[in-house]
Amino acid sequence: PQPLDEEELARLLEPGGALSRIFPEYEHRSQQVAMLRAIVRGFNEGKHWMIEAGTGVGKSLAYLIPAALWAMRNGERVVISTNTINLQEQLLQKDIPILQRLLSESGLADGSALRVALLKGRAHYLCPARLTHLRHAGPASVEEMRVLAKILVWLPTTQTGDGDELYLPTPVERALWARLSADNETCTAEVCAAWGEGGCFLHRARKAAEAAHLIIVNHALLFADAATQNMVLPEHRHLIIDEAHHLEQAATKQLTVEIDRFGLLRLLQEAESAREHRGGLVGALLQLGRNLPPALRNTLAGMTRRLSDAAEAARTGVDVLMNALTAFLEETAPGSGEYARKVLLTGAERNRPAWAAVEQAWELLAVRWGAIQEALNAIRAALTELLDHGFTEVEEALGLANGLSHDFEKIRQALEAAIRKPAPDTVYWLEGHVGEGNWARVGLYAAPLDVGPLVRRHLLEPKRCVIMTSATLRTVDRERQEPSFAHLKNRLGAWEMEELALDSPFDYRRNALLYLVTDIPEPGQAGYQRAVEQAILEAARTIGGRTMVLFTAYAPLRRAARALAAPLARVGIAVYEQGDGSSRRQLVERFRSAERAVLLGTRSLWEGVDIPGEALSCLVITRLPFEVPDEPVFAARSTQYRDPFLDYAVPEAVLRFRQGFGRLIRSRSDRGVVLILDRRITSRSYGAWFLMALPPCTIHRGPLSEIGPVVQAWLESSTGR
Ligand code: SF4
Repeated sequence: PQPLDEEELARLLEPGGALSRIFPEYEHRSQQVAMLRAIVRGFNEGKHWMIEAGTGVGKSLAYLIPAALWAMRNGERVVISTNTINLQEQLLQKDIPILQRLLSESGLADGSALRVALLKGRAHYLCPARLTHLRHAGPASVEEMRVLAKILVWLPTTQTGDGDELYLPTPVERALWARLSADNETCTAEVCAAWGEGGCFLHRARKAAEAAHLIIVNHALLFADAATQNMVLPEHRHLIIDEAHHLEQAATKQLTVEIDRFGLLRLLQEAESAREHRGGLVGALLQLGRNLPPALRNTLAGMTRRLSDAAEAARTGVDVLMNALTAFLEETAPGSGEYARKVLLTGAERNRPAWAAVEQAWELLAVRWGAIQEALNAIRAALTELLDHGFTEVEEALGLANGLSHDFEKIRQALEAAIRKPAPDTVYWLEGHVGEGNWARVGLYAAPLDVGPLVRRHLLEPKRCVIMTSATLRTVDRERQEPSFAHLKNRLGAWEMEELALDSPFDYRRNALLYLVTDIPEPGQAGYQRAVEQAILEAARTIGGRTMVLFTAYAPLRRAARALAAPLARVGIAVYEQGDGSSRRQLVERFRSAERAVLLGTRSLWEGVDIPGEALSCLVITRLPFEVPDEPVFAARSTQYRDPFLDYAVPEAVLRFRQGFGRLIRSRSDRGVVLILDRRITSRSYGAWFLMALPPCTIHRGPLSEIGPVVQAWLESSTGR
């Protein structure tokens, strides 16, 4: 391959370079240049790099420039993966247009010739073949009619067929979309006319991706590709993973298998539904039969009946199994209150008598499941033979039979492993919710214990250059007492990656005050919640709102919202709380545009929220963000460590803590205060690691009663008021 000229590329970002000619307000950042240089070396030398780049480094441009030039000059695709849609939108709408101008302005390449494609998972795209089928059969309910109408109005206007462009708020509408989406792993050009004629959106998106220089995807798609032996993404040797601190979680989520009553019954319904107008395999077979000679029609009808009967018979088996699982959950996770109950299925749990009932139930269902699979195989064999004899009309039914057969086998394997033959590299757990005395949403789950081997096998080993980047990749090394990539490298099996840590160009010492409250009870002790509420009240009243509070759970958030609403309303400050039905985006928007408001948030507000300027002047972290210890995947992974708390729980919490802290200072001129209301940060030895992982800011230790004056003094000293 043709190497990139490191100096030539670095000059683009230097003072007086092409970027500053296009944007006179552009500020030179040495960290951005250092990041670009490392990535150029990664591409040239075929090496993997892990790069932590603090807030404000401008990392997107630092990787987009080398990626685009490498792809254009060498005719090789580069895949860029993000965790969130927000970042994908930012890349497409803001950074790539800048990149294109920059390439043209500098004369390094014709920016308009840069081809960029966004590729999403199959379930995002409408499947025209399924839509035609539904239109042909006619909608079976009012909901179906409504969704169909929405789709038909939207269809002529869409370029992409991406369902995210549609507004489908109800679960019923979304379930119907799922049936109309391209989420059928087995369709191919042989069995689908739309594919061949270029009418398939998924196929079009894939073709665009194949022709692109840069392909933008998300982490989930990376692992869907890994799980399907690279059937999802076009071949590529260069990969940039932004928001890489989410890679393990994204892989776990993508590879988690969930089995519940609803899913099992839906699958059975697809096999047994004998009503022609419902579509599905049986409908397709009945329709097909009409065009066949009587003898063949009868044979096919007999096979179809066997399938329907077998599926019907399996229904009771599903009930027995789900009841046994619910009884097991009831025995192992008793208690009252409406919250999710989860039980990690360890060897000890599997030795309980109640588990024997689960095994028996599966034994019974497995036989019936096998009968369905046999019936499906007979149908597939018959259809294949017909196809071999030139009956091309069987293509659609064969495609459906193959898809269904694949789904049944996948579930059989998953249940067999979860119940009878657990694999040592997999975490299994049961989960259910209790509401009004009844169990609901009981499910059996399986997730990879360790994603490291997968990352190595599918990402690091086969690729020539992988760049992982984020503002938060490092935790603290216990022995050396300094920031280190070791924890993340361990989790991802990425030991050999080169590493680079780049500080934020922002002046935290001047602009961020870290206030550690010293005289409040520790979380869990009496009086803690009251102290938290008092601290928030004090800060918000002093500065007139402009405060975002990060909780680690909903219950204390709701209690605080109830306690604070009236006293803050009296001074004209509104309280917005996550969980009130608004989306995250709406909440943040409302908070940003309100003059006097407090925003109370949990998990999803700890990161990705960007509120520059005075709208957010005080960030309150109520509690160090430790994972709930009995969260099954976390608990199972903890057992891999000699000291699970210090070696696993603390580093994970440090990463989240750094993300939370990062919400405050979003630009060079931002200034504000971070209040830490978890005294363990000063009273416990591990607290020092949380502090060590932050950029060097001004630290103040003080009592609750001084929050108001200290916060006020800090903010006034900056604005000169
Ligand atoms: S190729 Fe598959 S996804 Fe595309 S239209 Fe045909 S069946 Fe649907």
